[in-house]
Amino acid sequence: MRVDPNSCTGCGLCVPYCPMGAISLVGVAIIDQDECVECGVCLRAEVCLSDALIYEVASWPRSVRATFSNPLTEHKETRIPGRGTEEMKTNDVTGRFKLGWVGLGVELGRPGIGTRFQDVNRVAQVLAKVGVQFEPRNPVTCLMVDTGTGKINPEVLNEKVLSAIIECTFPLEQTPEVMRTLKEVSQEIDTVCSVDFITRLEPDGEVPTERILSEIGAPYSINGKNNVGLGRPLAKG
Ligand code: SF4
Ligand code: SF4
Repeated sequence: MRVDPNSCTGCGLCVPYCPMGAISLVGVAIIDQDECVECGVCLRAEVCLSDALIYEVASWPRSVRATFSNPLTEHKETRIPGRGTEEMKTNDVTGRFKLGWVGLGVELGRPGIGTRFQDVNRVAQVLAKVGVQFEPRNPVTCLMVDTGTGKINPEVLNEKVLSAIIECTFPLEQTPEVMRTLKEVSQEIDTVCSVDFITRLEPDGEVPTERILSEIGAPYSINGKNNVGLGRPLAKG
């Protein structure tokens, strides 16, 4: 996003709409291009009466900013829309993750702080070292040059986005090792991250990861998601 200084009146109305605090006023509005994640929020707010905010489709590699941060953007690079895949949340319908396996979603960045792909790259590479399998239909996976090592295309490493979600799967018994790995790498990254473990329920209704997370002292909360209309063909009882 950029500002046409000849049209901007310096009214400041767009400033509070930026989730990255990238807009400042120096007589007219100035957008810090390094911090702007091309989310388009300032433009969609329709507060600029002077049509001074100008959105132009960026070229590669900056184009990934909008891909991951603007929900209205077409994913030309990854061909996978969104920051992660919806199927993780509807496992009772899709059955992507089987009994004995865990689906992992690691979300790096949130509005207000964002994340750069160098941090996504760091987390993906340590997860690869413990042997996880990356979800092929995930947009972060599509930016990897090697899914065996988790290495992300070096061209995008300095690009900043609102958030990005790594998705992968691993055998249930590896949960403590994966948690330890994530805890260690969280000290080395310059953003926030949240972790989702997705599992099928055991036949007796137990959440398989609950006992493991309790034993290793990891704080957690159990959530479920029902999708009205889709049904739960894999759920019993
Ligand atoms: S596009 Fe998003 S990040 Fe960039 S200036 Fe507008 S609101 Fe801020
Ligand atoms: S809302 Fe428009 S005119 Fe007002 S400061 Fe922002 S860009 Fe300038």
